[in-house]
Amino acid sequence: MCHNISMYTIEKSRVLVDKTKNGKERPWKDRKISSVGYYELMHILEFKKAERVKECGNILEFRADEDSGHLKLFKAWFCKSRLCSLCNWRRAMKHSVQTKKIVTEVVRRKPKARWLFLTLTVRNVWNGEELNKSLSEMARGFRKMVQYKKVVKNLIGFMRATEVTVNPVDNSYNQHLHVLLCVENTYFKNTENYISQKQWTGFWKRAMKLDYDPVVHVQTIKPKNKRKSDMQSAINESAKYPVKDTDFKTGNEERDLQVVQDLEEGLRQKRLISYGGLLKEVHKELNLDDVEDGDLIHTDDDEEEVSENAYSIIAYWNWERRNYFINSIDNN
Ligand SMILES: [Zn+2]
Repeated sequence: MCHNISMYTIEKSRVLVDKTKNGKERPWKDRKISSVGYYELMHILEFKKAERVKECGNILEFRADEDSGHLKLFKAWFCKSRLCSLCNWRRAMKHSVQTKKIVTEVVRRKPKARWLFLTLTVRNVWNGEELNKSLSEMARGFRKMVQYKKVVKNLIGFMRATEVTVNPVDNSYNQHLHVLLCVENTYFKNTENYISQKQWTGFWKRAMKLDYDPVVHVQTIKPKNKRKSDMQSAINESAKYPVKDTDFKTGNEERDLQVVQDLEEGLRQKRLISYGGLLKEVHKELNLDDVEDGDLIHTDDDEEEVSENAYSIIAYWNWERRNYFINSIDNN
């Protein structure tokens, strides 16, 4: 009897397929599998929030368009953990869409403004405690640096995002800031205004009170690029995941546990994305919510509206079969 029921259920269920309107399949299954891997490490480490990670995205309710069959996520619960692959995928999408909206509006208001992409680094650290301390210092240093006279003179606004990479050779961590800077076009006028790479390095060194020359990279975003815009690649670069989950999926469990432990400690209570100046104002005016703590359902990666007579589809994570299945609600 039981056997029959389960056979029936399998027959009536099918694998979730969720495609964007361009036909690209959304990676629900892969992201969830990755999130489960993270949960397993958190569980071994006895983190309290492991149970929350386990629940992340287990039930997904979509609205399906009657005509196109196109799905739009309607209801789900996400753990919002910093290292969760499912959440990071949603956040990166949302961050990219938000930044594009903000940049478009800033360009509309300040059509002559120029854009720079700045990467600020410091020396690698070796554990979670050092990472946490270093990230605080970098946030402080950055706030200080953007108040320097020569920077203030031309700065219209910025968006900064933090990234942490793991060095697989010596197991150290490198934390750096990706900053999209919007400056007045006078910035390029003369040496009174222009800040060379060497000067940026000097400013960062001074703001961070470093006794060595940090690696600083500055790149001008070309205003009219014939190829796909430089601006888009700068946005993509700053909207990447703060941490790559492959960094703690090396296959060496002892090592993976250490990395998760360090990153959890290092990123604890850290704001990884922030806006300043006109970008901050526009973020507020456009009423965009917080990428890090906001809603991860409406990421707006696909602006297409679902028609009024949409119906509901619910996908469940199947732990044994490691995939999402839709239980058909057809009557026949
Ligand atoms: Zn999650």
